[in-house]
Amino acid sequence: MASCLNPVWRSARGQRIWADYRERAEKLNAETVNPLLARYIELVSLQARLSSILIETLDVPHTDSDCALLSYFNGEALRPLLALAAREVSAKGKMEPPEESLNLLEDLWNQVEEFQYPRDFAARLALEVFATEISVVPHREMETTPDRCPHCGFPILCSIAREEGLGTRRSALCSLCSSEWAVSRLGCLRCGEQGASRLPVFSFDAWAHIRVEACDSCGGYLKSIDMTEDAEALPVPDDVASSAVNIWAFEQGYQAIGRHFFNL
Ligand SMILES: [Zn+2]
Ligand SMILES: [Zn+2]
Repeated sequence: MASCLNPVWRSARGQRIWADYRERAEKLNAETVNPLLARYIELVSLQARLSSILIETLDVPHTDSDCALLSYFNGEALRPLLALAAREVSAKGKMEPPEESLNLLEDLWNQVEEFQYPRDFAARLALEVFATEISVVPHREMETTPDRCPHCGFPILCSIAREEGLGTRRSALCSLCSSEWAVSRLGCLRCGEQGASRLPVFSFDAWAHIRVEACDSCGGYLKSIDMTEDAEALPVPDDVASSAVNIWAFEQGYQAIGRHFFNL
């Protein structure tokens, strides 16, 4: 199919993110075999294929920095992605008629409907690819709480700590469009609690670069990836590799603020 992409699109982040995530997941799985990581490797490989299809077919003729990212929904471009993702992950005989699936996809995108698992897993994979690719198109940011992405409005995946001067800088990463946004270095991103005595931080022998930032005010916890401990860490594969941490936090009575790839 002829490509008619505009210059903005051509300079998009392209498929690199999926290849990087896959490579990192393979490295982590080679170090410590983990069935969840093995499944993730299959799914991120599928996302790389979805991304190739999207790059070939999607045209963004008019971009406007006053438009919200969500306004770029494109059902025609998403249709083949959804079909392929559904073939790969849905149980046989459980597929919705195509038009119904596409309507549901638009409702999920606009957050009229919440993702339900396993019903919407294929839709989720397709929308993550679409959102990640489209997030580089000029758009207006939204007013959100710090635990939601100012680009697409979807929930945070995790926080990331990086070196800055003599200290660290904290940012947040979106679970849908992979955008990063700056957040304050301290404080609960859900309820805004600032008191250190109510914000316990837990670390783990098995994962030196993973922390659980908990909040005793709202009962939430957020996983944090400390890039100063492991500069090669990448949000999704490292989150999947350390999913035992999510189970541990749940057992301590905390609820997830971030949205894990497998929705643990
Ligand atoms: Zn986002
Ligand atoms: Zn809180």
